[in-house]
Amino acid sequence: MKTTITIASVLLLLGGCSWGQNNDSITSSENKVTQSQNNINSNQKHQQVDPDLMLESKFFNQVKIVNGVNMIENSSNVLSLVNKQYSIGSYEPKDLVRPKVQFSFGNQDIEKSYMRKEAATALENMFKSAEKNGIQLFASSGYRSYERQKALLDAEIANVGKQKAVQAVANPGQSEHQTGLAMDITSESENFLLTENFGKHKDGIWLREHAHEFGFILRYPKGKEKVTGYEYEPWHFRYVGKKHASVIYKNDWTLEEYFQHVKKM
Ligand SMILES: [Zn+2]
Repeated sequence: MKTTITIASVLLLLGGCSWGQNNDSITSSENKVTQSQNNINSNQKHQQVDPDLMLESKFFNQVKIVNGVNMIENSSNVLSLVNKQYSIGSYEPKDLVRPKVQFSFGNQDIEKSYMRKEAATALENMFKSAEKNGIQLFASSGYRSYERQKALLDAEIANVGKQKAVQAVANPGQSEHQTGLAMDITSESENFLLTENFGKHKDGIWLREHAHEFGFILRYPKGKEKVTGYEYEPWHFRYVGKKHASVIYKNDWTLEEYFQHVKKM
């Protein structure tokens, strides 16, 4: 190792920056040596876009404004950004299936036990891997239709009044659960409830640290409330696919922030 660094230094002294830029097969220790040198003459290198941040145009929301609301037109997009600014209207996913996992409400075949096929398969893999690591997860709430969301909001309005209700419950068309790509997850330690404490328990911690390996992201992290528009929800996981989930996880971003950083291809 010592020899390679010495050789690299000598070459740097002799050749300057052009050496480092033309040699792609150099080892990482040499890369570090050339890094500082390149900073001096950095014009060429900094114009390259990180391939992780290049994103095909089909993954961006295609939006049409209807009565002042941003309506997403490509709602089946697996990266669909659905939040308090963007609505999927009355969209219904076409490929809802019931993942073969344990549910907090037993074996009832009800709407909230469904997810889109790709997300359901990923959820099954995640739950299996969790179990191998001594973590027992329970799915609590997946797909939610426009009608069901409306009923939930109406009930909350009747309970606490409109002003408070709209803060806690999403408008129909603006809940991520309507995409069929989100699942609320809990464990026995939380009595199968959705509580903030789940994020402190080993089950919640395992999920937060491993979900991206299966294509899921923790959608409403702590400290990002102003970005997402939602309180911290350690139980709510959203499927986006492995590649995107891994970039989002490594950068500690939300889905909103991911779209601020990626470049359209
Ligand atoms: Zn949720």
